[in-house]
Amino acid sequence: MDVHIQTPKITPTGMSQLVLTLQYIKQSPNFALFYPNMDGITINIGNLPTTALPLSGQVNWNPYQGLQVISDTGILGVQSPAMGLVHEIAHVIFGHNEAQATAFETRVALDLGEPTRANYGATGSEVRVQNVTQHTDNGQWKALDQGGATKTGATYDGSTNAPNMGLGYIPTPPGFPWTFSPTVTTFSWDIKGNLVDKSHWQLPPDGQQFVPNKFDAEFLEFHLGQEDSATVAALPIELTDAQHDAVQIVGVPESAPY
Ligand SMILES: [Zn+2]
Repeated sequence: MDVHIQTPKITPTGMSQLVLTLQYIKQSPNFALFYPNMDGITINIGNLPTTALPLSGQVNWNPYQGLQVISDTGILGVQSPAMGLVHEIAHVIFGHNEAQATAFETRVALDLGEPTRANYGATGSEVRVQNVTQHTDNGQWKALDQGGATKTGATYDGSTNAPNMGLGYIPTPPGFPWTFSPTVTTFSWDIKGNLVDKSHWQLPPDGQQFVPNKFDAEFLEFHLGQEDSATVAALPIELTDAQHDAVQIVGVPESAPY
């Protein structure tokens, strides 16, 4: 099946950012399972807070908005703007529940080598980045380059100042319709300015693969049990003298819970 995404008032920059993001997050097997569920949703892209309106199938996405997250072992890292989109897509697919959206986000983050948060509230500050895939991984900045390879940047210092790691895409010319080179991607925009992905995702023969019960029950239970939990104690967000010791935990390898 083709996946259609409504992209009202999208700019050429937004087109490039969305395609790079989808190429990136589709590398996650856990995201790929649910990718066909995105068919028909609306993504508004711009300089606005990343949020979801699950009942109307809409996502507002800021492609520059990275997010500091704190893992269950107290590790501070930065998730990419692409992970912000994953979280909001989870709301469109699964509903308002933050624990469930965070559980899905965590699964995808582990697939992609991005840091995870202990629970929905385990976040620090927003971090502005230029590359939609830019994130930290074991204390190093990482981002995709134009060739699709992962490049490594500076050591993460725990601050909200992110290095410029390039855009990660070749700019798209203005106007519709537009088709990316078929040797590079399966994406195109129709005359109305809506995105079509002709990657022909096959529904599995047993019909079971795209439903939430594919999730490991134990993993979901762990996260769903945390919905009302308080923000985790370790909050090494600001590089003040008092908090400098805590920031030293940056760079400890993140351990996967499964
Ligand atoms: Zn949420």
